[in-house]
Amino acid sequence: MACTIMALNSTIFGKKIELSNPVEANKGRRRALSRTLAVMAPTQPRRSPASTGSVKHAMTMTEKILARASERSSLEPGDNVWVNIDVLMTHDVCGPGTIGIFKKEFGQNAKVWNREKIVIIPDHYIFTSDERANRNVDILRDFCNEQNIKYFYDIKDLGNFKANPDYKGVCHVALAQEGHCRPGEVLLGTDSHTCNAGAFGQFATGIGNTDAGFVMGTGKLLLKVPPTLRFILDGEMPDYLLAKDLILQIIGEITVAGATYKSMEFIGSTVENLTMEERMTLCNMVVEAGGKNGVVPADATTFKYLEDKTSMTYEPVYSDQDARFIRDYKFDVSKLEPLVAKPHSPDNRALARECKDVKIDRVYIGSCTGGKTEDFLAVARVFLASGKKVKVPTFLVPATQKVWMDIYALPVPGSGGKTCSQIFEEAGCDTPTSPSCGACLGGPRDTYARMNEPQICVSTTNRNFPGRMGHKEGQIYLASPYTAAASALTGYVTDPREFLQ
Ligand code: SF4
Repeated sequence: MACTIMALNSTIFGKKIELSNPVEANKGRRRALSRTLAVMAPTQPRRSPASTGSVKHAMTMTEKILARASERSSLEPGDNVWVNIDVLMTHDVCGPGTIGIFKKEFGQNAKVWNREKIVIIPDHYIFTSDERANRNVDILRDFCNEQNIKYFYDIKDLGNFKANPDYKGVCHVALAQEGHCRPGEVLLGTDSHTCNAGAFGQFATGIGNTDAGFVMGTGKLLLKVPPTLRFILDGEMPDYLLAKDLILQIIGEITVAGATYKSMEFIGSTVENLTMEERMTLCNMVVEAGGKNGVVPADATTFKYLEDKTSMTYEPVYSDQDARFIRDYKFDVSKLEPLVAKPHSPDNRALARECKDVKIDRVYIGSCTGGKTEDFLAVARVFLASGKKVKVPTFLVPATQKVWMDIYALPVPGSGGKTCSQIFEEAGCDTPTSPSCGACLGGPRDTYARMNEPQICVSTTNRNFPGRMGHKEGQIYLASPYTAAASALTGYVTDPREFLQ
């Protein structure tokens, strides 16, 4: 199952379905759908403390964002509220389905609620000769032309991605780079890793095509307010660790179900010192713990990143001092070691050094989690420190066109002016390929670097379920860019301290 294809949500056009008998549930869904027109434009019940007697209480930042977006002064976990959406994102896998639902329910000639708040990003199955995949991008293009969608990052020339100046690449990284991630706002996307944007202090979560079709027509969605788990990360981060190690540590701790329908808020001195790209890595994988969303409070680092990306005003919110968190988890980051998640689950945590006897067949650097500019700089740092060549095929898939350009243009610190691309070439890696999701979720058989054989791969991606990168008997070790680079140099799962100390 592609990571992007979300299960039918518990809300069908605003009607909550809570029927346990599947037959009754289906009847209920049909009844709910038949009532669609009646609830097409929900009106927000306006309640003020004065008229209802409710008392404004301390809230977490997730609660505050949802309160503002639902025009309430106060709300609590478990409340179901109609939320005004700031940005709706969809892509080539779920976009056609979303469009189909929008047209079916709102009419063939219906107009979207706001052509400037819908962002459409082809990124998943792009560089392939698969006709159905290509057709999906055509459907997006036709729809964007018809609706005059302002933000459509199109690709027409598959032979040369650089000939498509509008084309970006992986949606979550493109959303950030193009200024669609803004503190205090609500961003929904038809992709489970939409939670990536929580790095900006935004409420960001994945939704299904059905809900996305509804948002497309109304700009609203009924959401249940999640309770919040708080993760306090303090201590100086050793220079052989990256945010990927932090999130693998957390998921290993709480398991893949540990944050089911909960918000995960990250604070502490370590988080404050993370770059925006590293905060994205942290928030990107909250869904691997079942999290509804992840959030990092916006600060000077956030505002600096946004300076040249958006001219829109935004208003960050922060958790109240006495906000209620259902649990605090504390970590002394200075004591952590490089980690991997062994096959076949992101919570199958192990120290990288404990896996040093695992012989590997390949290394994959890419995806929304591990294919950003800083991820490639981290890989280059390890190669530079070692001066050695890789021992296994090492595939490099930049997340976006901007990342690709950085690989070829940015000097790597301490290299005397060499770029990542030069260092990768000297190390014997494959040439960095066209930006997209690539083989992160397998894709059509001709997808670059897809696992077509039952091999063992160390990967900077976010999921290691059976079949995730192609072959159902493939084995994926999730790791940081440092650990992936070190493993490429030895041909075994390797702790990066072997090269960085
Ligand atoms: S890079 Fe991978 S995880 Fe990220 S959006 Fe694409 S397929 Fe999903």
